[in-house]
Parts: sequence; structure tokens; C-alpha cells
Amino acid sequence: TAVASPAIACEGVTVAFGDFVALRNVSLAFAPGRLAALIGPNGAGKTTLINVLSGQIRPTAGRVLLGGRDVTRLAPHARARTGLGRSFQIVTIFPEMTVMENLRLGAQARAFGLQPFWRAVDGWRALRERAEACAETVGLAAKLHSPAGSLSHGEQRALELGLTLTTDPAVLLLDEPLAGVGHSEIDRSVALIERVRQGRTVLLIEHNMDVVMSISDEVVVMTGGELLARGTPAEMRADARVRAGYLGD
Ligand code: ADP
Repeated sequence: TAVASPAIACEGVTVAFGDFVALRNVSLAFAPGRLAALIGPNGAGKTTLINVLSGQIRPTAGRVLLGGRDVTRLAPHARARTGLGRSFQIVTIFPEMTVMENLRLGAQARAFGLQPFWRAVDGWRALRERAEACAETVGLAAKLHSPAGSLSHGEQRALELGLTLTTDPAVLLLDEPLAGVGHSEIDRSVALIERVRQGRTVLLIEHNMDVVMSISDEVVVMTGGELLARGTPAEMRADARVRAGYLGD
């Protein structure tokens, strides 16, 4: 039987910032429908890898493949159109705009990039319906007309997640989706990730090891711009190098 293409992959990716090598010859492939967590100490290259996969950074060498297609030269919005969504470590919503306005603008910007506004007018109604569906998915249907800035931090994170869903991506890249979420909201945020991952491939950066170990199908451990190890949460817990180098016990 034919082997399905990975949902997303990188091959031999190197990223140099001047003399500094942030990623060194990294190759990774993720099968459709899996949730993988990227862990490792600060400076390991996790965000740089997400940025390479999403197109925010062009690698110095190597390729990025989305569903088997080489997208290395595609800009972020072009990748978004081919089924890639991402969130950022910092919340990128507009606090004075309502939840609806944020989602509608997000849907438009992610689908159309910097093309002129009129290109989207035809699809205005579709954008609105898409925005409503996303709000529903992330549990913000009742807050559609509230200013985003009035939401709790957990709700703002939910909105940020909703923004990534506006293009109905097959692959989701989440950079610390729980950053700044208070203790009392963690369970709800994790449940939300479990919900949005359905039918998608998800790669996320997360520092909360309890969360990582409970939601991941696999864990990828990076250090110093290279892969240290990769496996199931149980395998990573049992790996002496991972324990010594990262899990800190
Ligand atoms: P992580 O997400 O694992 O904490 P990053 O990918 O953010 O790591 O960073 C990896 C390394 O690359 C760090 O040492 C960081 O300082 C460096 N780095 C990241 N972006 C840039 C940049 N634009 N210019 C120079 N150095 C950078």
C-alpha cells in the first residue's frame, strides 16, 4: 500500500542569523491527524522552526513540504491558503475590535494576504459565517459583539485559536497556546486544543510538561538548534538523555 504523504515536513532545514546557527540540518515529518509537541530549553530553536514551517522565516538551506508539496518559497499567506494555520506566542488580536470583527478581519487577512480589499467583498458573507463558526468552535459565540480587550486572558487565547481556524487549516502550528493562561483556565484551554485538533495535524510549542505529556501523540525534543530525541510521551519520559537534558530530573 502507498504511504500517505506527511501532513507537514521539513528536510535538512538550516537557519543562520549571521554567524549564529539557530537550526542545524533539521528533518522532521508529521503524519496527518497527529498532535506533536515541540519541547526544549529556551533558545533551542523551537519558534524558529515554527517560523520556517509557516513561512515567516526562509531557511538558509533545506525544504518545507505541506501535504507533499514543496512550499519553501511560498509566503505565509500563500501557505495559509494551502491549509496551514498558526498562532503566535503573543496575542495578536485587536483589543478595541469585537470578537466578530477580529475573526472577520483575521479570516480576510489570512485568506487574502495583502491583496486589495475589494477581492474579499464577494466573499463577505462567507467570511462572516466563517467567523461565526470559529467563534462557536472556540466557545465565544456568546461574546461575538464584545470588545476583544474585555475578554479574560484565557478567552483571548481562545480567540487567538479561533483566528487560526478561519481558513479551516489541515495543519495547525501553535506557539505556546497556553502562555499567560492562569491556573484556573488551563483545563478549559487544554479541552479547547483537544477540540480544535480534531481532523487536523497539530504541532505545538508548550512548556507545561503535564499538558505536553497528556495531550501529545508524540514529543519532539530540541536543543541547540538540533533534534535531541523524538517519540511518544512515555518514551521521552524514559529517555535518559531527555531526562538529564531537559525534563530536569
Ligand atoms: P526557542 O523558541 O526554542 O526558545 P528560538 O527559535 O526563539 O528558540 O531561538 C533560537 C535561537 O535563535 C536563540 O538563540 C535566539 O536568540 C536566536 N534567534 C532567533 N531569532 C533570531 C533573529 N531574528 N536574529 C538573530 N537571532 C535569532
